[in-house]
Amino acid sequence: MYPYFDVHCHIGMTVSRAPVIGQSVGRCLARMASANVIGAIPCPTAGGPQARGVLDTRAQNKVIANACRKYPERFPIGLGIVEVRHEQAGVDELDRAMCDDGLVGFVCHPALSGHSLGGELYAFLEVVAMHNGLCLLHQAGSTQNIAAYAQRFPTITFIIGHVSMSKAGQLDAIAHCAKQENIWYDVAQKPEGADESWDLVHLVNHLSNERLMFGSDLPYYDFRLVQAQIETANLDDETKERIGYQNAVRLVQQFQPDWLPTLTAITPPQVYSETDMWDANGARLKD
Ligand SMILES: [Zn+2]
Repeated sequence: MYPYFDVHCHIGMTVSRAPVIGQSVGRCLARMASANVIGAIPCPTAGGPQARGVLDTRAQNKVIANACRKYPERFPIGLGIVEVRHEQAGVDELDRAMCDDGLVGFVCHPALSGHSLGGELYAFLEVVAMHNGLCLLHQAGSTQNIAAYAQRFPTITFIIGHVSMSKAGQLDAIAHCAKQENIWYDVAQKPEGADESWDLVHLVNHLSNERLMFGSDLPYYDFRLVQAQIETANLDDETKERIGYQNAVRLVQQFQPDWLPTLTAITPPQVYSETDMWDANGARLKD
């Protein structure tokens, strides 16, 4: 088994959908330890608690900042989260989280946060651009709008989350984003059984082999299915290691030049049972 670095890892609770689902920092570390994931870029879960509005967003951002502070060798950088309905108060919280808590940017999940990946994110993106930061954007329809962001905000590095969940999504990203060097990609939730018109080999050959990375999409998905796909793909070992962790290490070093991965196994703070970690309905993890 190869070492993996996870660029798409949510911590916290999604409470805007039933059943609720989430994970603590400890359960995240246990899942990582049991599947040879040696580090991650944590971000909050979308659809988190909002009873107190932007104060809840601040609390979510603090969880990520604290995880990075406690485990810098495993969580070298972290992301905050933005909600479209917070408007300027949300922009101010993002700036605070980046200036005071050291987060390097934000995650956006359009379906759970009300974004359309249009102009409503410009004020948030401008904050990230001032810090030369990082944004993990989940797809909402075509990736054309993410390519437009990448041109409009050239100092931001973007990750498109689970770029290859469908053939249409994969071909769309190849058409619109392949030439944009500040867009990186994760392969979270890639379904098994894709034919050669959109399998992992096709993705490497047509999208990128230098900016394609492993992502777990924890706490929603049994990412070991994606690890198995990478390990059995018709790709050479060097390419598999790039996807598994080396590309992600280069990405992290853009923001933390002195950071080096720790390849030894994580010791989680609690002993979780297999059921605690991997109870699932198909590929979807249960809380
Ligand atoms: Zn996600």
